[in-house]
Formats: sequence, structure tokens, C-alpha cells
Amino acid sequence: MSTVLVVNAGSSSIKYQLLDPDTREVSAKGLLERIGQAGGELTHRVGEETTTRRGEYDDHGEGLQAVLDVFEEVGPSLSEAGIVAVGHRVVQGGKAIDGPRLVDDALETEIDRLASLAPLHNPPNLAAIRVARELMPQVPHVAVFDTAFFHDLPDHSATYAIDAATAEQYAIRRYGFHGTSHKYVSAQVAERLGRDDLRTIVLHLGNGASASAVVGGVPVDTSMGMTPLEGLVMGTRSGDLDPAILFHLHRVAGLDVDALDTLLNKKSGLLGMCGSNDMRDVTKAADAGEADAALALAVYTYRLRRYVGAYAAAMGGLDAVAFTAGVGENSPRVRWDSLAGLEFLGIRLDEARNAAGDGVISADDSAVTVLVVPTDEELEIARQAAGFARPSGG
Ligand code: ADP
Repeated sequence: MSTVLVVNAGSSSIKYQLLDPDTREVSAKGLLERIGQAGGELTHRVGEETTTRRGEYDDHGEGLQAVLDVFEEVGPSLSEAGIVAVGHRVVQGGKAIDGPRLVDDALETEIDRLASLAPLHNPPNLAAIRVARELMPQVPHVAVFDTAFFHDLPDHSATYAIDAATAEQYAIRRYGFHGTSHKYVSAQVAERLGRDDLRTIVLHLGNGASASAVVGGVPVDTSMGMTPLEGLVMGTRSGDLDPAILFHLHRVAGLDVDALDTLLNKKSGLLGMCGSNDMRDVTKAADAGEADAALALAVYTYRLRRYVGAYAAAMGGLDAVAFTAGVGENSPRVRWDSLAGLEFLGIRLDEARNAAGDGVISADDSAVTVLVVPTDEELEIARQAAGFARPSGG
């Protein structure tokens, strides 16, 4: 047996999974929440068994120690799990990093340096890496970057139309995020349809949301930009907007840069428009006739439709559309509303299949195949991390 421990650390949480990248078998997974806050909670799942621990976890070090402790107390024992690597999700890999990397001191320094581009994400990723290396020095640690899949975007989609010297000096370009998911899902689509020349749009709709255009496995555009703020409407993020809105709010409302950052990243999107960032609530409220929720849903799905049209044009045609993540996998309403009216592009959903939401949801005579593909970022991270431990292995 060979397993990988996948660690995904957020600002106040650590998600983890112990799995076998070959058999896909998950032997344990869990979530530790509210690091650095009151009421910390760790939920550890082994099969059907759930163990809950409450405590105060001051930092990622204490959090990760609690995770290792729960493994030792309720199992499976990490020392007997045949761990070949620890795979760490890292959000921003910058211009240079185009794939997974073995973590050493130099890579830690690089992840730290890139924190200015991803101030909310890279610091907690790095904190977890540092503690994990201390606590588990005997196994290789591999960093898998959200941006890596999009490293080779064509210049015309990665470049912002601003002063070139400023862009160069401050590393301003489209990096793209959720790359692990877009890579995994686009590969799944190719496998299911048995073709490696597909023009595919992947719509990753979770709390964060992003679209990608992938031709034959190679991404040619994606909706998140220098940061995860650009693009689609998200749970709490605005996605695309006129940047002059920021100047205006600064001048007339006196909002400073931190207030604007909070407004657009944490208080916008679905939450900002109608008071909830959960698509289940939004849909229910819209159905109950609440005008703000109906508008929020319409803005959300219209933005998706626009991106589908734009990416079909970017690729010179379209063969497949894949929905994934929490909303994409579970909301027939969002899938239906966002693709309605796109028959001219060859997209025709089947109502019953869309309601079932399992595999292909387009009609048999739809020129474009539309699918629901559950994402599995942990599996993808585990596969990439295991590749380092067993370079020639499967
Ligand atoms: P994250 O980006 O946090 O990983 P997920 O991919 O888990 O997010 O997606 C979370 C979101 O999925 C929730 O905020 C919720 O809006 C949405 N969601 C989950 N289940 C459903 C459902 N049955 N119908 C509509 N939306 C759902």
C-alpha cells in the first residue's frame, strides 16, 4: 500500500485527506476549522466513523499537531499507512513554477516571496508546509500549485492591457487558479469521451468560481486573473467589474484599499447582492419570489453564459462543457439557466438528465456534450505528489 497525505491549508482551516492515488481509496479525511479563533473544531472521518475534537488552535502548527494526534488516537496510524509523500496545495506559484515541486528551503523562500501576489493564500499554505516538514521530516513534501496548469497560457490571454513596464515590474498578468481542478476535470472529459482533441469549457462553481477553455488538454484561457477575484460571480466575490468603480468608491465614499479589498472579496457576489453566499438559499429565495435573490441568480447565470460564448469564440468552436464543484455538481437550475439560449452554439440540455446530474446531461442530438464531472482536487494532488516519490511508478 502506498498513500499520500494531502494538506490544503486556508487562512483559518486545514483540510486533509489520506488516500491511495492508484486505487483512489480514501482511508481518512478531515477538516480543522477556526485556527486562531475561539471554538476551534476538528472533524476526522474514517469510513462511516466521524470523530470530533474541540480545542483552541492558536496557529497552523497547533492545528496540524492536532490532526496528527487524531490519526494516532483513532487511526489509521500514519506511521503504518505507507505514506510516500505529503502533497500540499499552494495557491500562487508565480511566473516560474509550471508543475509540482519538491519542497526544500529554497522553495519555501519562493512561496514566501510570492505571498505579495496572494496575501490571503500563500502565507497559510506556507505555514502548513513548514510545520508539516518539521513534524514529518522522513517523507518528501511536494507542493502542487493552483496556477501551474495555466503557466503557459498564450500571451494574448495572460496579458493585461496596461503599461507594459509597470506590468513587468510588478508581475501583473493572468495567473489563473483552481488549476488542479481544471486539469483533473478536463482530463476526465477527454477520457469519458475518448478523445484528446476536444475544445472544452470547464465551469468550476464552488464558493470560488472559475471557467477555463482547454484545447486538447492545454488551457488557452481562464477567468480568474492576477488574483482569484476576476471572472465569474462567486459566493462572496464580485468577479469582473469596471475598475473605475474602485476609484469612485475611494473618492466619493472614502473607502481605503483594505475596505475595498474586503468589499469585493468578502461582501460581494451572491452574498452582496442578496444576503446569502449559498446557492441553495439563493435558489430557494428566488423561487419564493424574492426579487434580490432572483436578480442575483440571473446575474450569476448570465455571467456564465457570457463566458461560455466568449470561450467558444476563443477556441474557434466547442465540443464539451463540464460543470463541477459544489454548485456545478448540484444545481440543475444553475446549469439550465446558464446554458439556456445557446442552441446556436450547438448546446441542448436534456431536462431529465440535467435533473439527475450524473455524467452526460446534454440531449443525444446536442452537438456539444455537456457533462457533470465531480472534481477531485485531492486525488489530483496525491497523484502529482506520488509522481515525485515514485518517478517511474504508475
Ligand atoms: P469550496 O469552493 O468551498 O470548495 P464547494 O465546491 O464545496 O466550495 O461548493 C460550495 C457551494 O456549493 C456552497 O456554497 C453552495 O452554494 C453550493 N452547493 C452545495 N450543494 C448545493 C445544492 N444542492 N444546490 C445548489 N448549490 C449547492
